[in-house]
Amino acid sequence: MTEPTSPVTQDVLTVPRKLPEGGKLNLVGLTRAELRDALIAAGTPEKQAKMRVGQVWQWIYHWGVRDFAAMTNLAKDYRALLDRHFEIALPEVVTCQVSLDGTRKYLLRIAGGHEVEAVYIPEENRGTLCISSQVGCTLTCSFCHTGTQKLVRNLTAGEIVGQVMVARDDLGEWPKPGEPKDETRLISNVVLMGMGEPLYNFENVRNAMQVVMDGEGLTLSRRRITLSTSGIVPEIARTAEEIGCLLAISFHATTDEVRDKLVPVNKKWNIATLLDALRDYPRLSNSERITFEYVMLKGVNDSDEDARRLIKLIRGIPAKINLIPFNEWPGSPYQRSDWERIEAFADIVYKAGYAAPIRTPRGEDIMAACGQLKSATERARKSKAQIADEAGL
Ligand code: SAH
Ligand code: SF4
Repeated sequence: MTEPTSPVTQDVLTVPRKLPEGGKLNLVGLTRAELRDALIAAGTPEKQAKMRVGQVWQWIYHWGVRDFAAMTNLAKDYRALLDRHFEIALPEVVTCQVSLDGTRKYLLRIAGGHEVEAVYIPEENRGTLCISSQVGCTLTCSFCHTGTQKLVRNLTAGEIVGQVMVARDDLGEWPKPGEPKDETRLISNVVLMGMGEPLYNFENVRNAMQVVMDGEGLTLSRRRITLSTSGIVPEIARTAEEIGCLLAISFHATTDEVRDKLVPVNKKWNIATLLDALRDYPRLSNSERITFEYVMLKGVNDSDEDARRLIKLIRGIPAKINLIPFNEWPGSPYQRSDWERIEAFADIVYKAGYAAPIRTPRGEDIMAACGQLKSATERARKSKAQIADEAGL
């Protein structure tokens, strides 16, 4: 059998972002500082700016209001001014598929007609929203469906925050004025584990998470946000300092030889370099431990020897190992490890003192499980010329 190999980055077509029609600036996804600048530029007196930011922020992120006319604590003239300059716009929900296990997958359309997916995973004591950071991905991990999508564009901060707001809409999770505060949160956690490599879109991801973590509004604590990366080493310290969320690493192999094939970006930053960067993360981000994600591929990375090597490699790093049974997609070149193999692997890791949960695949019937996301528009393979044509290039 010839083993799958991939280049570090695929031959992608990066499409520029189209400006919104009508020229109104979307307020969703602006940081407080950016919102302040925007309000002042539109004519808000500087002296009032801080107060106005607080008010508008609360309407958008606490109450989920989309219409400036509904912002009743603002004067009518001011509401009209806001309406002339700004909009509160979210990605458009094209479809929402619901799995037999309750998982909900949203196909969302963003500016330029591109599509991304987000997935809501309800569990007994929490609800996790898995969001995307890019349309497609420039990396080519050989086991990942997203990595086969040729069209790539970074999402804006607004499109990233917008995924959280769209899911809140769908789940009916905005508070209602006058009703007692409901402390149960349907979206209690957010994971950047959808389409794309978040650390190749650092600024937008950071700004979006600042909005999501803000103490007023969506208010998710930084410990309830997990960013997953394939190992973009130069951005790891920055993630700790500027976002401070929990970190997950798509580790997946215990030798450079195998990791080069599974996660080709390993050719740029190998296992030793990656581990060095990780050793500093818990201290820099003031977080407890790093999650190592490990996809279980039959006969590729699932031996007892692999498990033992893994433990040796991560020694000294506060860690949890998330074992992910491989999720197949049409044409995928690997098979899922047998259940007994996964359990034997988990057992070795567990006995070495690490939590080693085996992730239950969720939403497989709607292709919503890890690594299965790929926008519908891209599923039918398109020629470069076709894509370029549609993107108006
Ligand atoms: N690009 C980022 C985040 C998205 S992927 C990253 O790679 O970390 C989220 C997780 O799903 C990653 O650990 C990824 O390696 C894993 N994954 C990708 N394809 C998979 C598949 N087919 N089955 C199981 N897990 C997969
Ligand atoms: Fe990109 Fe992550 Fe998929 Fe690799 S696993 S191709 S980095 S989305």
